[in-house]
Parts: sequence; structure tokens; C-alpha cells
Amino acid sequence: MTTLADKISQLPLLSLIHQRDGRLTRELLQEPGGFGLGQVPSRLKPDSTTNMVCGFCSTGCGLKIHLREGEAVNLSPSTDHPVNLGMACPKGWEALSVLDSPDRAATPLLRNSRGTMEPVSWDAAMQEFVRRMKAVQAEHGPHSVAFISTGQMPTEEMALLGSLAKFGMGILHGDGNTRQCMATSVVAYKQAFGFDAPPYTYADFEESDALIFVGSNPCIAHPIMWERVMRNPHSPEIIVIDPRMTETAMCATQHLAIKPKSDQSLLYAIARILIKNNWLDQAFLDASTEGFAEFAEFVEPFDLARAVTDTGLQAEQIERLAKTIHERQRVSFWWTMGVNQSYQGVRTAQAIINLALMTGNIGRPGTGANSITGQCNAMGSRLFSNTTNLLGGHDFTNPAHRQKIAGILQIDESLIPTQNSWAYHEIMEGILSGKIRALWVICTNTAHSWINQHVAREMLDRLDFLVVQDMYHTTETAQLADMVLPAAGWGEKEGTFINSERRFGVLKKVRKAPGQALSDFNIFKLVSHYWGCDSLFDRWNAPADVFETLKECSKGTPCDFTGIEDYHAIDAQGGIQWPCPAGSGIPAQERRLFADGVFYRENGRAKFLFEAPRPMPEAPTREYPFILLTGRGSASQWHTQTRTSKSAVLRKLYPEQPFVEINPVDARAMSIRPNEWIDVASQRGQMRVMALITPAVAAGQLFIPMHYEATNRLTDAVFDPYSKQPSYKACAVRVLRLNS
Ligand code: SF4
Repeated sequence: MTTLADKISQLPLLSLIHQRDGRLTRELLQEPGGFGLGQVPSRLKPDSTTNMVCGFCSTGCGLKIHLREGEAVNLSPSTDHPVNLGMACPKGWEALSVLDSPDRAATPLLRNSRGTMEPVSWDAAMQEFVRRMKAVQAEHGPHSVAFISTGQMPTEEMALLGSLAKFGMGILHGDGNTRQCMATSVVAYKQAFGFDAPPYTYADFEESDALIFVGSNPCIAHPIMWERVMRNPHSPEIIVIDPRMTETAMCATQHLAIKPKSDQSLLYAIARILIKNNWLDQAFLDASTEGFAEFAEFVEPFDLARAVTDTGLQAEQIERLAKTIHERQRVSFWWTMGVNQSYQGVRTAQAIINLALMTGNIGRPGTGANSITGQCNAMGSRLFSNTTNLLGGHDFTNPAHRQKIAGILQIDESLIPTQNSWAYHEIMEGILSGKIRALWVICTNTAHSWINQHVAREMLDRLDFLVVQDMYHTTETAQLADMVLPAAGWGEKEGTFINSERRFGVLKKVRKAPGQALSDFNIFKLVSHYWGCDSLFDRWNAPADVFETLKECSKGTPCDFTGIEDYHAIDAQGGIQWPCPAGSGIPAQERRLFADGVFYRENGRAKFLFEAPRPMPEAPTREYPFILLTGRGSASQWHTQTRTSKSAVLRKLYPEQPFVEINPVDARAMSIRPNEWIDVASQRGQMRVMALITPAVAAGQLFIPMHYEATNRLTDAVFDPYSKQPSYKACAVRVLRLNS
């Protein structure tokens, strides 16, 4: 009789650990290209270098990996990569060292009846995974199982996960952690342009003569993009709109330190000034947009006096910015989390887009309404993860789209859900209400990063079954799990990332994953096998196969990349930006969208979208008199620090203790001394932090980096109504002295 272990060992193209003759034996079944565990990839020379993209942020820097006997031993920034031109930030330099941490998940772990985690074989883990997930579905319905994914995995793994979960396992609700950072930009672009299409290329940093950063601190959040700004030879105006004197604001020619969440009012007031002075690109408005007349009428009440009151700025600052936009020839607008992580983020992003449209600052070198994305593959997640969109930016609710994708995948169309998934917070609320009973968390750290951190753990504790698939078994979420599946990390597997400027980059296997850890791709293949739906994915034996399928899915869409032959072509070119349809020839290294003034909406026109600003959901009160701002702490920290905390070098580059920035006026009023430990409390929770007294924050405001899990005990769980992105950036808090 054929045993299950026999079946596993016969699975093609998977590296597995299985029992044989009573002993654990490593069996390597080689992946195409020789990327199997324990072997030197055959296309890499044992002592040589090879290029791949960094796996932290969305910049997508090229890194030269130095190999000894086929294994990565060092790295340096690629000097010929068009993104970073030989530069890397501290995280990139340390990308290999974080792989060596002793807390790497190296074997499947299962919580036993005594409540402790114990190692189990892949066979046992997979049997238990399927048994318990199916039991939950049988008792509570197929939609009672959900997944939370990531912007950190290669595109091919995301596509396999989304397809396995939704077409194979009958899961309806699955979202990515990209909901926490990029959903706002996705919706803003889709509504305004007709597709989620950041229009720029990084050369625009160097070609603008005015760069306007709204809620964006590239100096530390995207340091290599900032280096590109520093190379700009046009003596550009650098304008920063941010309540804090951030590192970027310190370098600005104009810093507009607005009151928190008054950006929408400011942007409408600037639009009104541009209209009043007829500082418009009328030809572009006529040919390429719709809704401008309504917008002009809408902004009429946003006069200068109102803007001064709303923003706390001086009238001259606002007028100067409007005049700069008019006088400069190539104005680019850039935004990140200060805009996205807001209860009115979509309309704020669209207020930025409106300025670019009305002044014709789009489609030309050095211009654009440009959202800088966050994670290394947020752009892959946005288009190909099968969470909010059907593969390739398609729509689950559109019958023609479902038919197209079913045809390409050669699956029964009825397997494709006809409705959209719940968003991240709806999944979390579903846990609270008992509708979601089992959760599969892949490559993210919900227990740390979720905005409702004070209840996130309680929510996760309510689950009948929590599975965490991660590189490390020590994340806050993994410690709550019933099962941990050990995953390979960056450098231990292959696939592609898509960076902020829509550029595909290649990820290669240059290290062995520890112990029995498998690539996420292979884990998903295993799950499909044990679930009994592997026939759906017969054609996907390696990431390159998925890449081919995704190409077909992209055909005829704005993100068409049918002209990219294979990984080798991407590698040779130093990355390739979409769109790259078949027959378009060798694409130029830098390409921007909308040079022809034609957008992706049905009528080809970009749409002006606007809405009255709303008050901050939680304004300061007598009891909670401060506004808390959150954001990145340093260029050496990444999100929940799952990886960056593993590097001794990176740890030395940021403060050891959690800290809060407080203005000297407030510190003096409360007799707070430098480096004194204080508590910061909101209505939801409290955290202990060291006082950093600095004028970088205005009086009445505090700033705490997002990297501490306690930060999200304070934040207020409100969401943008369109993008459902959490509003991490502003809530009311108070300061408590410990010995007063
Ligand atoms: Fe990596 Fe981003 Fe740093 Fe570049 S800027 S090295 S992509 S973390």
C-alpha cells in the first residue's frame, strides 16, 4: 500500500523531510535551475557574484551577492542597478545577517495538550493543518477560515497562496498587511485613473524642479530614493508638508508644519489659489480630465483665512507654495503613510492628484502624483495576490474577468469567488464575532502591527486554530499560534518583487534555509497536496511557472508584462517596469505613465474626486491633551523589527529604549527632564517611554516610533471608509510622570 510519506516523497519539485527506515532523512528533490536545499544553484558559479533585489523596502535596490562555494557570504550594493546606482541603506547591507538568527523557525511546531510547542514532521504538521482547517469549515461554514498575508513575499508565492486559498480551499476572506500601508493609494488611483497605477519612475526624483512631499519622510523611510533627490541637478524647491520637523523637513526649502490631519484643507486651499490666478493647464484639463468644473466650485469656500485657521500655517506660506507650483516647470508630488494611514486618506491622496492634474504635472519628466509604496513587494501584492483583486488587477465581481482568469488557469469558473474578501479589520472583527474561527497568518506579525493592539491578542486567542508561517518562531503572533510552519526568507528562495516605480526585480536562492524550513512556495504546494486540490496547480511546479501564468493574466491590462521573457531578461536589464506588452521591444530603463494624456478609465480621462474634510475622530481633550503622531524611527528599523532586531549592527543604529519626542515647552511645563521615563496613555492603553525633548515636534504633539508593539495599544482603530486602511497617525493621549 502506498503510504502518505511515499506520496510526499514522490511529489515533484519539492524539498521535503520525511521518515524513512525510522530515521529523519533529508531528501532533496531538485527544483528547476538547481535551486534545491543543500545544493549550489547550478546557474550560479560557486565562487562568484550574482545580483538580486533587496527584500526590505519598496525601493527595490540591487544588491551584488558574493558567493563562496555557491553560498552567499557577503553583499554590496550593485553599482550598475538603475534604482540605487551603488547605494544601499543599513537594512540592505545587513540583509544576509538577519538570516542567521538563532530563533529561525527550523521545524514545524505544534502546540501539544500541555500548551507547549513541540517539533513535528512536515507530514504530521500538514495532516493536522488540513484536519483542523477542514473541521472548522465543516462546523462553521467554508468562510470561517481566513488568511492574512503580506507585502514581503515574491509575487509568485502571493499568487499561489491567493489561488490555493480561494480556488482550492474555499476560503473567501483573505487580506494582506498591505491594507495597513497602501490600500489608500490603491483606491485613490483606481478611482482617479481607472487602475492602481503609480505613474512615475525614479528618474523623476532627479528631473523635478520642485518636489512636494506630503506626509512623507524619505530621508529615513526610503533613504535611497532620498539619495536620488540629492543627485537632482536643478536646484529644486523641496517642500515638506508634515506636522513634524522630520529629517526630510530639515533639508527642505519650504516646511509647512501643518496641524495634524489638516492636509486636505491645505490642498484644497492651494487648488483654490491656482484657480483664482488661472495658474492652470487648461489644455490638459480639457483633453484629459473630467469633473474639474465641479471641483472648482467645491474648493470655493476653502479661502486663505479658512486655510490659516484649519492648518495653523501663515497665509504667506500657503501662497508661496501655490506660487511655487505655478512657477516651476516640473513639479512632482510624493506621499506615503502620513496620507495613507488616515481616516480620510483616499480623499487626501486625491486632493494631491487633483493638483497634479490641474497644473498638467503628470506624464512628463520630473512630474507626477506619486505614491511611494512601502514593502518590497507591496506592488506585487496590490495586483497579483488574489486578495483585494483577482489576479492581474482584475475584479472578482466581474463575470468577464472571472471567465478570463478561469480560462488561463484552466479551472472551473465556479471556483472563483463572486464577491470580494473582507478587509483586514473586518476579518479581525469576524474573529471577535465568532464568524472567523481559524486563521492562517503568513509572513506578517498581526499581534504587533494591528492597530487594535490592546485587543489583537485577545482576538487571536479566540481562534479555534491559529497557524503562523514565518521565518522566525518568536514573533509576537507566532508565540500565540497553535502551529508554526517554518519558512525560508529572502535569499533562500526565488521569485520576483515589483518595486514602487512598477519595476520587476529578481530574487534568487543564495542561501540554504535552516533545518527543515521550506520556501513559502513549497509550503503552499504541500498544503494543496494534503488538502487534495493539487491538481489545480499541476502547472505550477516552480515560481517561474507562476510567472508565466501571471503574464497571461496581465495581458491586455495596464500592467501587461507579456513582453518580459523570463527572470533572466529582468536580471539582464536591471529590472523591467510594467507595462511591457509583448512586441514592445526592449523597454527603456526608465518609463513613466500617461505621457499621452490618456488614463485607464473608460473615457480615457482622469477624474477629479473630492469631499469635505472631516474633523479628527479623536481630538485632544482636557484629559488627553496631546496629539500622538507615529512613524518610522530610523533607517535601520523595519516595521515590527522581526528582522532588523536580529542584526547587531542595526540595533546599534537606533535607540535601545522606546522613546517619545516631546516639545521643550511641554517638557518644561511638566518638569520632564531629558531621558526621564514617562508613561503615555490613550483611552485604550498605556506605554512606558523615555522622553526625548526636541523641537522636532510642535507643542501639544508627541511622536512615538511605530516599531514598538505597545505603540499600537495607544492608536485609535478608525479606518478610511473607501480603502479601509487604519488611521495610525493621530489620536489623543496624555503624559504621566512616574514620580510626580
Ligand atoms: Fe533595501 Fe530599501 Fe534600503 Fe534599498 S532603501 S537597501 S531596498 S531597505
